[in-house]
Amino acid sequence: MNRRLENVTCCGCGLLCDDILLEISTQGASISNACSRGREFLTTLIENTSISANPNSDEKLKTARQWLKESKSPLMCSLQGISLEMQAECIRFAQKEQMILSTGKDSELTFAYQKYGGSGCSFGELRHRCDLLICFNFDPFTQWRRFSERFLEPAGRFIKSRNDRKVIYIGSSKHLENSEAFDEVVLLDDKNQLNTLVQTRLSLQSDIEQPASTESQKLCQIFRGQVAKSQYPILLQGSAEFGVATQLTQLLMEINKTMRLHRIAAGSGIHTGSPQETILAMTGFPDHVSFRNDGIEYDPQRYCANRLVAREEVDCVIVIGETDFTDVLENSSARIIHVMHRLEKSTVSSDRTIELLWHSIAGTHLRADGIPVPAKVITAGKLPTLQSLFEK
Ligand code: SF4
Repeated sequence: MNRRLENVTCCGCGLLCDDILLEISTQGASISNACSRGREFLTTLIENTSISANPNSDEKLKTARQWLKESKSPLMCSLQGISLEMQAECIRFAQKEQMILSTGKDSELTFAYQKYGGSGCSFGELRHRCDLLICFNFDPFTQWRRFSERFLEPAGRFIKSRNDRKVIYIGSSKHLENSEAFDEVVLLDDKNQLNTLVQTRLSLQSDIEQPASTESQKLCQIFRGQVAKSQYPILLQGSAEFGVATQLTQLLMEINKTMRLHRIAAGSGIHTGSPQETILAMTGFPDHVSFRNDGIEYDPQRYCANRLVAREEVDCVIVIGETDFTDVLENSSARIIHVMHRLEKSTVSSDRTIELLWHSIAGTHLRADGIPVPAKVITAGKLPTLQSLFEK
């Protein structure tokens, strides 16, 4: 049967483009408006979801249930790229099974926001008003392939063309792929990022002192000079080593005493949403919790997913969605149940790893700027719940 679906949401990256046209027929699927990554994402999703209503073999489900039952110290991690409803379902499941829950992401940025605050903004403001965009450790032209087409090039209410905007990259070379797309690039040595930000903040505080390093002098020129002259400057903040997110937030606080620099937290990758916010809303803690029969224990040092796996302190890991620490998982002896909403490769089933398909992206996703975007059901048939995968 042929199906035509308009305004489908692509969850291939944090932009969540919701103007995709899908035409599905017995010959295949035609996808309009998506970038190459989006087309790949949606094609795989359609292929996976058309396999059958229950693509996980009974044998695999039985083994996964057995592994969880036998586990003395189970961990649930990641929760990347899934809807808010799926995140909530995962958290309830981890609580019911008394697991450790840790996304594997650093929650420093969440803490820094709580402690020092910050002035957030949306992609709508970026499109209509932003004349200076500072990207810190984040290359939106590579990570979000339709970013320029959707938000920088179109005429906004107050900004008429791409030429009216300046886009600057500040940060490590490892996060930068498309340097030509930027109007200015300031590369910071990885090892010195923290020190450079501290120097810059102190210099802005004193307002006179010239910082010692050339890198700090450049940052002062941008944060003191260009931000002050700009009408609507925005900082797009990517991932940072420990301490840098806090320092950057403090720097932002310093700047915002006399100017206004809005911020969008782009995080560390292409994925949507922030599971840490959902965990915070449901448990009162932003991440790194252990559900026990007598309550919840919170310990960001102890319940850090990467460390728990590396130190072999967990024996069964349920990875939900995509993860950033595959190498740590591969080198551990823990059993791994990888629950994915799409399978990119053929299904793996080894002595130590099982992949289960949980084929739904439907629900509400959070765009990188925090705006909720609904994603339609594009599959036929009833979708399984996480609980149903582990129930007899
Ligand atoms: S930019 Fe991102 S959300 Fe938009 S179509 Fe491409 S992958 Fe999908």
